[in-house]
Amino acid sequence: MRTFGGFRLGDSFFYGEVRGNDVHVLAKPYWVEIEPTGDVRKLADLHVDLPVASSKLIAVGLNYSDHIAEMKRTELGAPLIWFKAPSSLLAHQGTIEIVFPEHRTDFEVELAVVIGAPAKNVIVNDALDHVFGYTIGLDITDRDLQKEEKQFGRCKSFDTYTPVGPFVYADVDVSDVPIELRQNGEVRQRTRTSLMIYSVAHLVSFASESLTLLPGDVILTGTPSGVGPIRAGDQLEAVIGDWPPLRNRVAHARDNTGARPPNQTKP
Ligand code: MG
Repeated sequence: MRTFGGFRLGDSFFYGEVRGNDVHVLAKPYWVEIEPTGDVRKLADLHVDLPVASSKLIAVGLNYSDHIAEMKRTELGAPLIWFKAPSSLLAHQGTIEIVFPEHRTDFEVELAVVIGAPAKNVIVNDALDHVFGYTIGLDITDRDLQKEEKQFGRCKSFDTYTPVGPFVYADVDVSDVPIELRQNGEVRQRTRTSLMIYSVAHLVSFASESLTLLPGDVILTGTPSGVGPIRAGDQLEAVIGDWPPLRNRVAHARDNTGARPPNQTKP
């Protein structure tokens, strides 16, 4: 397994490969080319930033039977995909800012796929050749807006509503790994990726039929049952296999701005 990430030191940002306690600085994003500069930093000295910069952030719905049941939906017979805004990405240790505290806003833990090679009309058997690696993702969702608007783009695309990280792992088999979400230390979601209805290979192949997947793009593969509301002050911890957890806290957006964002006022 190889481990990659995005790092910040003062004002400078760079991608790097993590080896033990060191980060080997790369000249380019790792999904473009793994080209070490020769510069090596201590991981402990760095701020862990976003590990990806995606042209597209694709989400998959209804990919675990127990989640389909809790949402009172039925299987569609094909993957359900839509887009989240790449501007919704949030790094490890970042704060999820709830825009509408009066709405129900849910956590959804998901395995996230990072594309490594352009993919257009790839068959299932070749699909994993187009995957660079994997990370942990959260698909934060304004459930009230999702029900009102009957589409999934806006309710899941607010800034900070897609935490990912802390790192991206290559050369790893994710076909049957445990996945878990803890809220303030309590386990809320727990399953194994082998229970996904559509595998990573199937999802990459399916998505590539309708659009060209580019290196650095991310696919969130769907959430298991146990989704639930987040509140200001919560600490979320998402875990896949033995990777370091993705940790994020929760606040109200207005806590930071002193006012609601423009055009989002409600009586
Ligand atoms: Mg989801």
